[in-house]
Amino acid sequence: MSEFQKVNALTGMKDVLPPESAQWEALEAEVRDWLASYGYLNLRTPILEQTRLFSRGIGEVTDIVEKEMYSFVDPLNDERLTMRPEFTAGMVRSTIEHNFLYDRPRRVYAMGPVFRHEKPQRGRYRQFHQIDVEALGFAGPDVDAELIIMLGRLWRRLGLTDIRLELNSLGQADERAAHRTALIAYLEQHVDVLDEEARRRMYANPLRVLDTKNPVMQDMADQAPRLFDFLGEASLAHYRGLCARLDDAGIAYTFNARLVRGLDYYNLTVFEWVTDRLGAQGTVCGGGRYDGLIELLGGKPAPAVGFAIGVERLLDLCAQKDDIIHPVECQLYLIHQGEAGQRTAAQLAESLRDAGWRVLVHAGSSGFKSQFRRADASGAIAAIILGEDELASRCATVKWLRQQASSGQAQQESIPFDRLVTELQSRI
Ligand code: ATP
Ligand code: MG
Repeated sequence: MSEFQKVNALTGMKDVLPPESAQWEALEAEVRDWLASYGYLNLRTPILEQTRLFSRGIGEVTDIVEKEMYSFVDPLNDERLTMRPEFTAGMVRSTIEHNFLYDRPRRVYAMGPVFRHEKPQRGRYRQFHQIDVEALGFAGPDVDAELIIMLGRLWRRLGLTDIRLELNSLGQADERAAHRTALIAYLEQHVDVLDEEARRRMYANPLRVLDTKNPVMQDMADQAPRLFDFLGEASLAHYRGLCARLDDAGIAYTFNARLVRGLDYYNLTVFEWVTDRLGAQGTVCGGGRYDGLIELLGGKPAPAVGFAIGVERLLDLCAQKDDIIHPVECQLYLIHQGEAGQRTAAQLAESLRDAGWRVLVHAGSSGFKSQFRRADASGAIAAIILGEDELASRCATVKWLRQQASSGQAQQESIPFDRLVTELQSRI
């Protein structure tokens, strides 16, 4: 035994092994197809960015920036860096850097890991994954509606039903400013029920106080002045425009005046898709409009709207509905005897792969019995046997391993090497 003390994965960061990884791949394939059907193209950005991108983009006084980011100083060049805690800031940085919106608005998406230092529990991890979708350069409620309708289609494609939409509007800067004054006055009157975090935030970011999950503060938050009541005609028209289009599409929603989202950059439309099936971590997807962010990060002003889906939570929901997929390693498993048998198997395997089969050749040399056990465990439809007799007659023995594939067929048969590909193609 080695003296090396074994290493485990970090708390809140999961390995995904087969067969579970097959559910991930199936979801990713479905999602790419769904995104393509709405014209979204893939934009890939680095996981590591300068810390100030997120503190500026997400906002200093937010859960993410105050306490959840994986940040460190790179000692090699003394830069403050952060593992992305979300996609939007990086996507926006990239479009500004490459002048990507110069001639037209763009629809882009990304999928991958994001990092937040939170207390791990079901649906809450330190490395988790998001499907992030951004419509950059679009101002109207038609695109807000398109994004939400698109999500409705994804849930349908995945067969998910117990998932509902909550909507709010956060208005524009001047409306928020007027509301803010009223909200601070209200919070000052209720300072006795505010927890420590709320007291700290009530001047810097009073809206965020309403986002509290502290049960003691719920009544206070429910009675607080509503931002929605401060909206002017243009903001209300945007909201009504969105609702009308959701009605057209038959998408149900509930208005939630307390929905403010955990990031600073939103204005007008904000929404969340929520389910009761995941315990406390019920938000599967959150998004909204962020018309000021591109300018805030140094770009030419342009409106934008987007959302992020939590992949772990989505997969948890899918798992409650679907049988799990058991991935197979191969369709054909080649069994052999002696060095000549192994070399023939390796060559035959290549021609079978040329014909599109997924093929495994048994590695190393072992007895037929243990090779058959591996063939069975691989999930293959057939084992192809290349023993001494087979080499001498240049005919492979094909043993059907799965009942359904062999219905009406002999359990075992002999097929000449040069007819193997065509014979197999006609059988399976
Ligand atoms: P929550 O209120 O659950 O903390 P959030 O508002 O911080 O969510 P967003 O920043 O909107 O979440 O991220 C989008 C989605 O990513 C969430 O709706 C959720 O599905 C998922 N998500 C957020 N944090 C985590 C996490 N720590 N682990 C797993 N999924 C997460
Ligand atoms: Mg959070």
